[in-house]
Amino acid sequence: MHDIDRQICMAAWDGPGAGPGAVAPPVFQTSLFTKPSFAELARQQAAEHEHYVYSRGTNPTVAFLEERLALLEHGESAKCFASGMGAIGATLVALLSAGDHVLFLNNVYGPTLQLAQQLRRFGVEHTIVTEPGADLEEHLRDNTALVYLESPGTQLMKLLDLPAITAVTRQRGIRTVIDNTWSTPLFQKPLDAGVDLVIHSLTKYVGGHSDVNGGAVVGSAEDIRRIFYDGYLLFGATMSAMEASLVLRGLRTLPVRLEQHERNAVQVIDYLCDHPAVTAVHHPYANHSGDDPLFRDQLTGVTGLLSLELRDGTDERVERFIDALKLFRIGISWGGYESLVSSGQRPGKDPAPMPRGLIRLSIGLEGANAQIADLDQAFATLAD
Ligand code: PLP
Repeated sequence: MHDIDRQICMAAWDGPGAGPGAVAPPVFQTSLFTKPSFAELARQQAAEHEHYVYSRGTNPTVAFLEERLALLEHGESAKCFASGMGAIGATLVALLSAGDHVLFLNNVYGPTLQLAQQLRRFGVEHTIVTEPGADLEEHLRDNTALVYLESPGTQLMKLLDLPAITAVTRQRGIRTVIDNTWSTPLFQKPLDAGVDLVIHSLTKYVGGHSDVNGGAVVGSAEDIRRIFYDGYLLFGATMSAMEASLVLRGLRTLPVRLEQHERNAVQVIDYLCDHPAVTAVHHPYANHSGDDPLFRDQLTGVTGLLSLELRDGTDERVERFIDALKLFRIGISWGGYESLVSSGQRPGKDPAPMPRGLIRLSIGLEGANAQIADLDQAFATLAD
């Protein structure tokens, strides 16, 4: 992690009203911004993405967060949304037209694929390829407009070779979009690898406190302007000033939280890899040695979302194990301060069948000793 990123996360408010030196950014809790004259309103409305006119479009508290995210991702511009799905939906709708084809690579988040299924009704076709080593060229078509990917994915955490993919897509004039939620902007910079747009669910690590939903897309000024007018402004998945202030609060401690998530995750993975009741652990730290170029060149750290395969992983044993956990709470999200567990099986939502007995853990901040002790007592219940 670079010190410059820590400084970006913790930067002081420099927007309107900075005079008194408030440490926390002000929350501009207003739905609109009045102007001194009708002519001035008309001028600003004509370039709404650059001016504060109406909070469904822009708001100073939200803009401060957007600037921080653009800097962290090495992008020119960013737009924040009410949720990760808001960002994904606006991006796909803004960039695609009837007759286009989209290629989804890796185990892309289920609802993203469900949205792609809906887009079929509007003439947008897609293909899903879950095998990370698949030959990209083989799946591209003349009308492929977009390659959408996750690396790591968030079920089996497989890595894709980003520079190899973008070398092909750039040559063919195809856009690439990555969901970078697993790595956060601190551990992976996909725009540097040639990806065009980066999406985040800010609900996860960036928010970090499990008290806010949010999303973002980062890329070139031109792409973000297009997404603003053709996707964001019209669908209204707006991030409010209050939500932005909560995400900014999360961002200030993101570097230090990530370091702790990583320390805990590595210890938990070492423990799981040696456990006789576990047949596989899915996480880049478990699957890639430090000198694997995919791991070494693309990620500068690892976060705490992993999955494991339980030996003799019947539904009954998976349920018994999950119910026996006490510190790990049972819930579907991830990336918050609290450790969570859920089944890795999401019937009807995953493009490819998941391994039997798959359990997903989000390693929180409680401390590896407590987390391992909880897992240990839950494994012990399976021996009965
Ligand atoms: N991307 C990934 C990988 C996710 O896991 C999620 C949510 O779980 C999303 C996107 C959607 O984010 P949100 O729940 O903020 O809409």
